[in-house]
Amino acid sequence: MARLNDNYLKLKAGYLFPEIGRRVSEFTTAHPDAKVIRLGIGDVTKPLVPAVLKAFHDGVDDMAKGETFHGYGPEQGYGWLIETIIDKAYKPLGVSLKTSEVFISDGSKCDCANILDIFDLSCKVAIGDPVYPVYNDTNVMVGRTGEADEQGYYENIVYMPYTAENNFAPAYPEEKVDIIYLCFPNNPTGTVATREQLQGWVDYAIKNDAVIFYDAAYEAFIPEPGIPHSIYEIAGAEKCAIEFRSFSKTAGFTGVRCGLTVVPEELMGTTKDGEKVSLNKLWNRRQSTKFNGVSYPVQKAAQAVYSDEGWAQVKEVIDYYMENARIIREGLTEAGIQCYGGVNAPYIWLKTPEGMSSWDFFDKLLNECFVVGTPGSGFGPSGEGYFRLSAFGDRENVETAVARIREKWGK
Ligand SMILES: *Cc1c(COP(=O)(O)O)cnc(C)c1O
Repeated sequence: MARLNDNYLKLKAGYLFPEIGRRVSEFTTAHPDAKVIRLGIGDVTKPLVPAVLKAFHDGVDDMAKGETFHGYGPEQGYGWLIETIIDKAYKPLGVSLKTSEVFISDGSKCDCANILDIFDLSCKVAIGDPVYPVYNDTNVMVGRTGEADEQGYYENIVYMPYTAENNFAPAYPEEKVDIIYLCFPNNPTGTVATREQLQGWVDYAIKNDAVIFYDAAYEAFIPEPGIPHSIYEIAGAEKCAIEFRSFSKTAGFTGVRCGLTVVPEELMGTTKDGEKVSLNKLWNRRQSTKFNGVSYPVQKAAQAVYSDEGWAQVKEVIDYYMENARIIREGLTEAGIQCYGGVNAPYIWLKTPEGMSSWDFFDKLLNECFVVGTPGSGFGPSGEGYFRLSAFGDRENVETAVARIREKWGK
C-alpha cells in the first residue's frame, strides 16, 4: 500500500463548523417554530452586481464564437486584468507594481496554502491566535510542525496572541522567525493595523530577514481614511512582503473564484548556500507548472469590478454589509457588550458577557435569542471568551437579531 502523508493525521478533525451545525440542528428539531438567524458565516449573501454579471455573460458568449474563443490563457492571468488591477486597485494607493509581479488565481485560500511550496521546511513561521485556520493547517500538512498540544498549539509554530489586552496588536515574536502571517482587516477579530504598526512589522521583517505574508482579503471594507489597504503602502514592504487579495468578499466571488497574489521582484529568499534568489521567479515557476489559470469569463467578470459602474455597484453592496456591521456593533455596545472590530471589517468580535466561555455564550445566544454566531475559541486558544458575529446577511435579520440580543442583555 502507498505510504501516506502522516502530517495530515496531525490535524485535528474539522470541529468548529460541524459542531455549530450539530447544535443548531438539535435546537431547531426541538424548537421547530423558532426563527433562527445565522450570523456565523464567513460568506457573502448578496448576488453578483449587474456590471459584473454582464461582463461574465459576455465572456461566456465570447467562448461560443470561433473568433473570440479562448483556450488556455497565461497561467499568471490575462495582461488586461493585471493592468486593470495595478491601475485601479494599487495606483490610487500610491503603489506602483509591474505586471510581472501580479499573479491571478482562483482565490487566496489556495494561494496562501500554495505559497509554502517555494519555502524550505526549516523556515519558522509565526501566525496569529485566533487565526484564519488555513495558515495553521497548511503548515501542518507540509510537515513544518510537530504534534498539537492539548490546547491546540502545534510544536514549531510561533503563535502571536491577538487579545483585547494587547489591543489586537501582538508583540513581535521573541524567537527568530522566517515567515510572518498578517491579516488586516483581520478575520476573525475584525480589527485593523495602523500605518505605524505595519511600518513596525516591515522594519522588523527587514531587520530579521523574514517574509511577511499579508492577507488583505477584507481591504475593500475599510472606510476609515488613513488605514492602509495594502502592505505596499508601507516603505520597504516590496523587499519583504507577499500580498494576497481576493474578489471573494470584495465582489461576491466566493462561488465564482478569483484572487491575486503580489510577489515583488525585489523580494529575495536564500538558497542553502546563502545565494539570494528572487521569490517572484520561483512563484512564477510554481504557478506555470502546477496551475493553468483562471477561466476567461471569470477574469472578464473580475475586470468589470473595476469599471466605474462595477465599482459603484460593488461599493454599494460593501456599504450595505458595513451598515449591518454598524447596527450589530452599536446595538450590542448599547446592550453593554464589549465589541471590537466591525468598523473596517465585516466582523464584530465581542467579549462574552459575564466571563462566559465562547461555547456557553453560543448556547445561550442560540437558546434565548435564536441567533447563531461563531465561538471565538474555534479560531484558536486566545479566542476563548470571545465570539464572532458576521455582518454578511439581510438587514431585516440583522435588526431582528440585534433587537433580540438587546432585549436579553439590554439596558
Ligand atoms: C474569505 C477569506 C479569504 C478569501 O479566500 P478565497 O479563497 O479567495 O475565497 C482569504 N483570507 C481570509 C482571512 C478570508 O477570510
